[in-house]
Amino acid sequence: MAKKFKVTIDRDGCISCMACVSLCPEVFEMNEEDGKSQIVEKYRVGGDISTGSVPSDLEDCVKSAAEACSVTVISVEEVEE
Ligand code: SF4
Repeated sequence: MAKKFKVTIDRDGCISCMACVSLCPEVFEMNEEDGKSQIVEKYRVGGDISTGSVPSDLEDCVKSAAEACSVTVISVEEVEE
């Protein structure tokens, strides 16, 4: 069973500090219209910009971003595939 990680961004609370994008650009990017963080297209679930599914080699990346988010709107949850 491969480990995967579900990543969600509560975008309403994002303060556009870009910490997540700096630490983990493989998964996070800024939305050009509202200036808030979103999941890059490659890892989106069902086209939802606030929900992603990433492989385990990006675990450290997404967790460091979640820890760095000062308003704690990023959550990372381990899921079994
Ligand atoms: S670190 Fe948090 S507040 Fe900052 S851009 Fe990312 S999601 Fe938004």
